[in-house]
Amino acid sequence: MTSQASEQSRVKGTGNTLPSRSESYSIPSDERLTPDKEASTVQKVNEGLFGKFLPRTQTLVDMANRTLPSIILKRKSIREAADEIDKTITELNLAVDIDDYRLLPGGHWIPLSCNPRWKVAIVVPFRNRFHHLPIFLRHIVPLLKRQKLEFSIFIAEQRNDERFNRAMLMNVGFVEALNFTNYDCVVFHDIDQLAINVKNYFGCDNMPRHFISGEAIWEWKLYYEDLFGGVTGLTKQQFYDINGLPNIYWGWGGEDDEFANRVKAKDLKRSRPKGEIGYFDSIVHERNESSPFNEARFCLLGNIGQRRTTDGVSNLRYEQPTIELHPLYTNISVNIQKLPWNPRWKRC
Ligand code: UDP
Ligand code: MN
Repeated sequence: MTSQASEQSRVKGTGNTLPSRSESYSIPSDERLTPDKEASTVQKVNEGLFGKFLPRTQTLVDMANRTLPSIILKRKSIREAADEIDKTITELNLAVDIDDYRLLPGGHWIPLSCNPRWKVAIVVPFRNRFHHLPIFLRHIVPLLKRQKLEFSIFIAEQRNDERFNRAMLMNVGFVEALNFTNYDCVVFHDIDQLAINVKNYFGCDNMPRHFISGEAIWEWKLYYEDLFGGVTGLTKQQFYDINGLPNIYWGWGGEDDEFANRVKAKDLKRSRPKGEIGYFDSIVHERNESSPFNEARFCLLGNIGQRRTTDGVSNLRYEQPTIELHPLYTNISVNIQKLPWNPRWKRC
């Protein structure tokens, strides 16, 4: 989550009454899901959540996936006046009504019985956490439906073996989500976080929101007051105002502290639910070898001011992602690369 947080969790180690992350709860590697097994597990989640609506939903998702490349191509050629992708999908009659919700392929749910207060894009930074995906989906979809939000889940997947870049994936997820629908609120959600309380409302606020007030593994506390990692939400405008997240953090740690700093620098005071409303459980996992510590993080955090307006959504560039619609989520698979270095930034 953040440099500070996890270092302390390691230091804390055995003195803690709760099992540490790497001990009791980790899934042994031989029980981990491969992408194929993951697909069949998500399929079980689909069966559970859609019931009799699943065959029809699956047919519409397949049809939408077949037309998606041409919709995207058309948008590219008429950039300015391009329709949102979901508008075109609706016009093609690819939506299905399920109880009091309308569902568009890609997991976009729109309440029919009320005017939703927020249109929320849930953006999940992701790589190789297939064993977490079904648990996450099974947990969050019913919760968001109970909150009567309009919402969609975007899995922003890093498709290469470079160090994991959580912040840049969040930027990409934000931009790509807005191509589908004009979401007014974006919630960035680590895949291993599970909100315990249905009253933890996933709409936005007039201030950037940190949704976590305590974690089971941290004895229902936060590691430090300024923590702004795990699950955070901003209006579209707030996100543009702070220039999104930095793109230069490759590897684990630091990026969420810079995120918090950007919020503060704009005089935005982050909000957070109080007490048990903001309690989260987390799927405990081993430290990921493919996501080593970013040794440069402390140096980078010392030069935050230089990059605030020059590294973020403002300079974001990436190849066209591969986009795949699923019944419960949209997968945005992207080969993100290092962006050109700005000579005004200090090297770390
Ligand atoms: N993540 C991922 N694959 C990785 C590393 C990170 O999908 O190899 C995503 C995932 O959403 C995860 C989040 O980034 O929950 C934060 O990373 P991680 O869980 O490793 O950090 P922690 O908060 O556990 O220290
Ligand atoms: Mn984690």
